[in-house]
Amino acid sequence: MDRAQSILRENGLKATKGRLEVLKLFIGAGRPIAQKEIMAMARLKLDRASVYRVLNAFLEAGIIHKAYMDGRHAVFELPDSCGEDHCHPHFSCRGCGATTCLKGMKVYSEGSPGKGFTMERQKVLIEGLCPRCSS
Ligand SMILES: [Zn+2]
Ligand SMILES: [Zn+2]
Repeated sequence: MDRAQSILRENGLKATKGRLEVLKLFIGAGRPIAQKEIMAMARLKLDRASVYRVLNAFLEAGIIHKAYMDGRHAVFELPDSCGEDHCHPHFSCRGCGATTCLKGMKVYSEGSPGKGFTMERQKVLIEGLCPRCSS
């Protein structure tokens, strides 16, 4: 059984063709991807609504999480290197627009956000130039 199938099974989701396809894209990409990229990359023909349903099922099961927002669109990834109290920040290059997971950095949630605030997820986006664009 491959990794995509075992992830679905562990999370109690049926391994439909669409779910397997999308999950394999996430595993292969190794970086955060947006819904429109998923549709462009998928070998199966997946319409917007089915990609949306697959992403929602994955989000509910905790298989993926929202890495950050790109304008009005969420970008998703596997929470590979994230723990209960920390996640990695993302780096957005203003030269080429590429976004990279900074897995060597950890962002900790420490301290209290204040009375009445419920923290759900942190999305830290660092902007600058990637190695290619800065040389
Ligand atoms: Zn760049
Ligand atoms: Zn990431």
